[in-house]
Amino acid sequence: PASQGLSYAELKDILRDTPDPMKAREWSQYYASGPHLCGKNLSQAEWTRDLWEEFGVKHSEIVTYDLYLNYPVDSGLALLEDGKVVFKATLEEDVLPEDPTTGLEDRIPTFHGYSASGDVTAQYVFCNYGMYDDYEELEKAGVDLKGKIALVKYGGIFRGLKIKGAEEKGMVGVIMYDDPGDDGEFTEEHGFKPYPHGPARNPSSLQRGSVSYLSVAPGDPTTQGYPSKPGVPRQSVEGKIPSVPSLPISYAEALPLLKALNGHGPNASSFPSSWHNGGLGYKGVEYSVGPSPESSTVHLMNEQEYVITPAWNVIGVINGSIPDEVILIGNHRDAWIAGGAGDPNSGSAALNEIIRSFGKALEKGWRPQRTIVFASWDGEEYGLLGSTEWVEEYLPWLSDAAIAYVNVDVGAVSPNLRTSAAPVLNKALYDITSSVQSPNQTTKGQTVRDLWDGLIFTMGSGSDYTAFQDFAGISCIDIGYSAQGPADPVYHYHSNYDSFYWMDNFGDPGFLYHTSIAQVAGLLVAKLVEEPVISFNATDYAFSLERYLNSLKETVPKEDAPRNFFGALDAAIEAFQRVSVAFDHTASKLIDLASSKKPGNRAELYRSIRSLNTKYKLLERQFLHAPGLDSRSWFKHVVFAPGLWTGYAGATYPGLVEAVADKNETAIRKWAEIIEGAVHRATDLLIPQ
Ligand code: GLU
Ligand code: CA
Ligand code: ZN
Ligand code: ZN
Repeated sequence: PASQGLSYAELKDILRDTPDPMKAREWSQYYASGPHLCGKNLSQAEWTRDLWEEFGVKHSEIVTYDLYLNYPVDSGLALLEDGKVVFKATLEEDVLPEDPTTGLEDRIPTFHGYSASGDVTAQYVFCNYGMYDDYEELEKAGVDLKGKIALVKYGGIFRGLKIKGAEEKGMVGVIMYDDPGDDGEFTEEHGFKPYPHGPARNPSSLQRGSVSYLSVAPGDPTTQGYPSKPGVPRQSVEGKIPSVPSLPISYAEALPLLKALNGHGPNASSFPSSWHNGGLGYKGVEYSVGPSPESSTVHLMNEQEYVITPAWNVIGVINGSIPDEVILIGNHRDAWIAGGAGDPNSGSAALNEIIRSFGKALEKGWRPQRTIVFASWDGEEYGLLGSTEWVEEYLPWLSDAAIAYVNVDVGAVSPNLRTSAAPVLNKALYDITSSVQSPNQTTKGQTVRDLWDGLIFTMGSGSDYTAFQDFAGISCIDIGYSAQGPADPVYHYHSNYDSFYWMDNFGDPGFLYHTSIAQVAGLLVAKLVEEPVISFNATDYAFSLERYLNSLKETVPKEDAPRNFFGALDAAIEAFQRVSVAFDHTASKLIDLASSKKPGNRAELYRSIRSLNTKYKLLERQFLHAPGLDSRSWFKHVVFAPGLWTGYAGATYPGLVEAVADKNETAIRKWAEIIEGAVHRATDLLIPQ
């Protein structure tokens, strides 16, 4: 009877019906009840492993790595006039009586992951979002940056790259704050009450976060390319993490600094439009950029302790009957703060509901076709540490067996779905979202797909899929209700106010989006695990390659010779398109045959499916280039990487993009050829023998 198991249709019902908002709420409350920084959450790792075992995932274990990272020791920030302190920042968020985890005795001081220790006193400059172009604009306007401290807004790019940019201009420290100008409609300026009494940003909230140079390589910066096991050789961190100190502050504490700049240097309004979003005008900030006068300086002190600490991934496995076809799903467990109800625990709560659902199916006799691996990663926040080290350790096995990795991080902090995916998975994502009822129906029967804008971003970085997609060449998807609309309550990202109380009252009261993301991600995994023909689509990949190339060509001036370098690549992509269309067509014929009741040679049919599946599985791998990108060799994928100067947002054909940016014709030729080679490999793989 076990071999009969459970039908796919019955499995789908279980995955749709089991996730329960009240259970998700319970997991959320557990995870968001105390500090769980990387390397300090063993009890949560053990609890998670035990829970998964209880759900029926018998092979659940903790996998440990020794990670190099920092913990805060001491910090201080003050504004000085003629050497006298006129304002001293608390660097603390307000303790709110309503919100119990904001006032925990053992709460962690505010700091940046991988920030440099240092003690500097200097004039300062408002540098907008601290983007590469922002610093350039300032220099163009004649603002002297050298030796100054940068005061920057969060947003636009990954925070570590703001420091990288500042350092390259000779600046000596960086202060970052979230400006309410980026918070949508629900701001104090528009009369909304701040959290906990309303949906606006609490003025004392501040954003912690890693400042590693993420786009250079994720993972432990001392072991790039191999796992951080005890005793392994350690590399220098030079060029991978900042060398000047930084601190996050609240907008309330940024105000005195911003106001002291009024009237000094050019005004932000004289810069391009991305400089015009400042939302503190109503508080008297004019957004003069400075530099502050010589008499007006900032004292920034930051003391960090660097250690090598054990950290713990939890890995659960349900073995399938096909040994070398594996689907993975994961999310991280570590957070900067005691809460983290949104990041990462809305994902963690959903993952537990997914596993509980699969456990129910197992109990009813379900035997999966393919193997499923569940992961609760540690150390994502510092720079995707747990997932990257694990991928580096299991690379040979993953290269052989992995079909797809599904990532859920911030799973439910808004009603808006946000996804990015490798193009082979687009179709599966549209199918699944069309099969799940939306928690937000204005008309009965509306599905998640109906209420989603349908945008699928390209894979950039910022969460645990990065090593899978960019290092191992495994097709990935990242999904969550995390896209903030202008009229959504402000999500206090990486702040003490990303708490269970916030989630319960503002983020996802009723926990319906937690349940919904559990249904969507669970059903997606099930589809990838159970459908006889892997639910990939090569055609989408092939046509995406053309679109990416077209938008790249637009960045090359018409009269430039490199325009002519792409002819062979164009032809290669066209051939890949033809072969992909034929390949997907064969796949759909096999799907029809497999589902038809007509007698026939089943053994032969299964052999054909098996060989086709192996090709789908290995398709993404063809886009790896072993030597990696020129400026960051850890990144092996020739189509997808985080943008060198964005970190979060993806660049397509990164090698080519960087060569074009450098106006380096030799490199452009070289990368056009490398990519062409990858497209040929992919084409050859799919050509019928
Ligand atoms: N998701 C975390 C962040 O945005 C970590 C990203 C990373 O270091 O790659 O801060
Ligand atoms: Ca490593
Ligand atoms: Zn996260
Ligand atoms: Zn985070």
